[in-house]
Amino acid sequence: MKHRISLQPGDHHFDAADGQTVLEAALAAGLRLPHSCRDGVCGACKGKVLAGEVDHGHPAAGALSAAERAAGLALFCCARPRSDLVVEARAIDRPGAIPVKRLPCRVHRMQRLADDVMLIELKLPGSEIFDFRAGQYIDIMLADGQRRSFSIANAPHDAGHLELHVRRIDGGRFTAHVFETMKEKDILRLEGPLGDFWLREDSARPIVLLAGGTGFAPIKSIVDHAIHIGIRRPISLYWGARTRSGLYLDALARSWHTALPGLRYVPVLSDAPASDGWDGRRGLVHQAVLDDFTDLGGHEVYACGAAAMIEAARSSFCTTRNLDEDAFFADAFTFAPQTH
Ligand SMILES: Cc1cc2nc3c(=O)[nH]c(=O)nc-3n(C[C@H](O)[C@H](O)[C@H](O)COP(=O)(O)OP(=O)(O)OC[C@H]3O[C@@H](n4cnc5c(N)ncnc54)[C@H](O)[C@@H]3O)c2cc1C
Repeated sequence: MKHRISLQPGDHHFDAADGQTVLEAALAAGLRLPHSCRDGVCGACKGKVLAGEVDHGHPAAGALSAAERAAGLALFCCARPRSDLVVEARAIDRPGAIPVKRLPCRVHRMQRLADDVMLIELKLPGSEIFDFRAGQYIDIMLADGQRRSFSIANAPHDAGHLELHVRRIDGGRFTAHVFETMKEKDILRLEGPLGDFWLREDSARPIVLLAGGTGFAPIKSIVDHAIHIGIRRPISLYWGARTRSGLYLDALARSWHTALPGLRYVPVLSDAPASDGWDGRRGLVHQAVLDDFTDLGGHEVYACGAAAMIEAARSSFCTTRNLDEDAFFADAFTFAPQTH
């Protein structure tokens, strides 16, 4: 049974088919609601149900609290209508702003950055202009229609190619292919740009960038873009990994302050053995931010990496460090639904 959804502000109307989430129905109708992980973790799609009833699905507790549910908030990537609805979205990214395209691309270059991290450079068809915002991601479309998400690691001004940092997942279908059989000149299909994790340039707030593992990829795009536009906002970049090799572009990150004097880089290792000779910060990367900032009020935080890190950062920064919920932007590296 279809349900009619009215979207405020703007008074847009669209239908949700049986089983569709509010987000899926909006996207199918060409309305780009803010979203990112599509899995109830990142919180980017949070909005208000002004009238009607939804089944909330199973969002992560840190992404939608009981108090928020009681106040009528929902994560539209998980919420399914149980009746006709009137909903309010935080912002609407209208179609036409940056078109989402499906394109073939060629694997131009592959480079091992660490035992379990591969840089892939994709070349797009010569005639294509692929516009994106610093921090967004693409989906690689597999032959059977499944998709795998990867953040774009280069900046938009450098868009003749797309750089990805792919971490190998044990038993992972696509990432095993990347490490074992993919070769230069192979053809892939992609869809993008996707997601609402991108640098807000109309703000003057100081920025905290938080990356876990290959969550560094979109952060690199943001920093390269910040250098390109000559941003003057103070930037604190925290990059966490288990061991030294996980900081697979550490030298690059250390060099950034030359081009961006307002940038401070703090690498943090959680499992470095004594033999590593590591004399830098240790522990969990979000904890390093908590240790350094008594108050994050007036800041913007951009966090990218494992879902557990995103949840820990969001809840601790917003509840104990005064960070405005609307100033926490995140891409959680959730997994594609397993249908094979
Ligand atoms: C918006 C977004 C952006 C992303 N960007 C990047 C990126 O820039 N670089 C990057 O390396 N990854 C990124 N990821 C994660 C990446 O999409 C997955 O790791 C990838 O889909 C794994 O594909 P696979 O076919 O190898 O594994 P699958 O065959 O899908 O999974 C095999 C098994 O591994 C588990 N698994 C899958 N992914 C992960 C994971 N990330 N961590 C732990 N266990 C996992 C699955 O649950 C399953 O049990 C991103 C994810 C999202 C949602």
